Amino acid sequence: MADRIPAEDNPGILDKFIGYLLGNDKRDFQEVHIDAGIIDEIISIARESHPNEFAALLEGKIKVNTLKIQGLVFLPGETSNQGAVMQTFMKPLITGTIGSVHSHPGYNASPSKADLYFFSKNGLFHLIIAEPYDEHSIRAYDSMGAEIRFKII
Ligand SMILES: [Zn+2]
Repeated sequence: MADRIPAEDNPGILDKFIGYLLGNDKRDFQEVHIDAGIIDEIISIARESHPNEFAALLEGKIKVNTLKIQGLVFLPGETSNQGAVMQTFMKPLITGTIGSVHSHPGYNASPSKADLYFFSKNGLFHLIIAEPYDEHSIRAYDSMGAEIRFKII
């Protein structure tokens, strides 16, 4: 993916990208706000996809120590029963995306080993929604896989 970045045109962007890879941007925010409409969308897609997983990317911005999640980016062919996240990992980085969301059929919203690897390489904020697919079965993680709190706004 590195050869997609025009480093000489954007002096800051390569550092930013490496920051994402290393996960050291996580201190840039103290609070996470997720738009309620996005939560609703995640819940309905998780239910529709069941018993398969779905995965999408999250769009967001950090403003005054608050990470605001404002959009979902769907990638074609992400619904599968064998590791939606790893497919996402193969896609090029999309500008404005800061993390990911995926579903876990079953009641365990903890990241798998593959999820932890993915989190460490891709963005700074990740959601996992498990059954029964409601707002209480959504967990949020930073790039290190540590659980973090969020508010639905
Ligand atoms: Zn997972």
